[in-house]
Amino acid sequence: MVEYTYRFRLYPNKEQKHFLNIQFGHCRFVYNYFLALSKEEYEKQGIKWKYSRYQSMLPALKRDYPFLKQANSQSLQVSLQNLDTAYKNFFEGRAGFPKFKKKKSRQTVHIPQHFEIERVSKKRSLLKIPKLKTKIPIKMHRDIEGQIRSISITKTPDGRYYLNVLTRKEIQPLKPSNKTAGIDVGIKEFAIIYDGDKTYHIENPKYLQKAEKRLIKLQRQLSKKQKGSKNYEKARQKVARLSSKIVNQRKDFLHKVSTAITKQYDCFVVESLNIKGMIQNEKLSKQITDVSWYKFVRQLEYKARWYGRKIIKVDRFYPSSKTCSVCGYKNNQLTLQVRKWQCPICKTVHDRDENASKNLYKIGVAHLTSGRTGTVQTQACALQGNLQAQSQWDCGAGSVGGMGDNSQSTRHPVVKQETSQKLASLQSEQAPQFIEE
Ligand SMILES: [Zn+2]
Repeated sequence: MVEYTYRFRLYPNKEQKHFLNIQFGHCRFVYNYFLALSKEEYEKQGIKWKYSRYQSMLPALKRDYPFLKQANSQSLQVSLQNLDTAYKNFFEGRAGFPKFKKKKSRQTVHIPQHFEIERVSKKRSLLKIPKLKTKIPIKMHRDIEGQIRSISITKTPDGRYYLNVLTRKEIQPLKPSNKTAGIDVGIKEFAIIYDGDKTYHIENPKYLQKAEKRLIKLQRQLSKKQKGSKNYEKARQKVARLSSKIVNQRKDFLHKVSTAITKQYDCFVVESLNIKGMIQNEKLSKQITDVSWYKFVRQLEYKARWYGRKIIKVDRFYPSSKTCSVCGYKNNQLTLQVRKWQCPICKTVHDRDENASKNLYKIGVAHLTSGRTGTVQTQACALQGNLQAQSQWDCGAGSVGGMGDNSQSTRHPVVKQETSQKLASLQSEQAPQFIEE
C-alpha cells in the first residue's frame, strides 16, 4: 500500500473564494498565534510545547476570538499538528526553527473529514466541504483510484486553487527486466543514460528552457523595482505565475522520465547531490538544474520502492567524469569546460557525460548481485581510486550488502555531518508521495 496524492484544479466562484480565504486566514492565525506563544516560552525558558497543550488551549482561543467559529475546527487542529511537526523537525535537527506563515505565500487548509467529491460528468466534479453551502467545481483530468483518506485545498501565490486528494492504493511490483542503467546529470542535456548497450541523451524540453530564460529575466526586473510599489506588485505577480507554470511543467517532465526509467530498468545508478552547494548557489539556472535533479532522484527512489526496483546513489565525490570507463585511468586535469577527452593510457576518446554514465552503469552491474531493492547509498569502491579491473568491481559488490546508512560515517567519513543533516531534512519534509497534476 502506498500513499498517493492526486491534484486537481478548483474553480471557486467569488463567494467561495471569499470563504476559502477566510479558512486559510483562520488556519494561519491559529498557527501564528501559537507559534508566537510557544516561541517566547522556548526562547526565554527553554520550554518545549506538546501538541496536547495547543489542543487544550484552542477552545479558549475560540472564545477570545469569536471569528474563529467560522473555521472548520478540524482544519484548525491540523494546523496545530503541523506546527507540532515543524517543532519536532527543528528539535530533531531536520529543519530550521518554525516560521510564521505569510498571507502572500502558498496557503493551505486541510480537511480530514466530512467532505464529498461528487462526479457530475466525465471532466467535472463538485466538492462539498464543511461550513460551505455551495459546491466548488473541480476539473477532473483523471480518475481517483484507491481509498480516499483526506483532502486539502491550496491557493498558490499566483491565485490558483487546487484540491489535493490523499489516497492509499496498492501497487503491483514490476517484472524484472534484467537491465541496469547508469544515469548522469548532463550539463547541456537533462541526463545521459547508459545501459550497457546504448547511450540515451535526454534533452531538457525546449519549452522549459525558453520559459526558464524568461523567468530569469523577469526576476532580474523584479529585483530592480521598489518594494511595495504598484510596479513591484505587478512584476511579482508575473514572476509567481510563470514560476508555478514552470514548476508544473517540470514536474510533469520529471515524472514521465522517472516512470519510463523505472519501467525499463531493474537497477539505476545516480550520483547524489551536494545539497549545501545546491542551496548556496547563486546562479538561478544552476539552482533549477540542481533542484530538478534532486526531485528526479527522489521520484526514482520512491518509484523504485513501489515497484521493487533498486536505485544506487553514489557519493558525489566519486569522479565519474574523470575516470576512464574503459581502463580506469583518472584524468585529474579534466575541467568543467572540457566536453571530449582522450585517455592517454587506452586512447579511448570520451564524451564527458557519456563516460560518466558508463562508470555509473559499471557500479550498478557490480551491485546487481546484492538482492536489496529500494535505495542503496554507496561510495562504491570507487573512492578507493583506480578502477582498473573488473575484479575490483566484484569486491565492491561484496561490500554493498553490509553498507547501511551508518557505514557512511565509519567507513568513509566523506559526507560531512551538516550536509547529511540537510539532506535528511529535505527527505523528511517531502513525504513519499506521487503528486500528479
Ligand atoms: Zn583509458
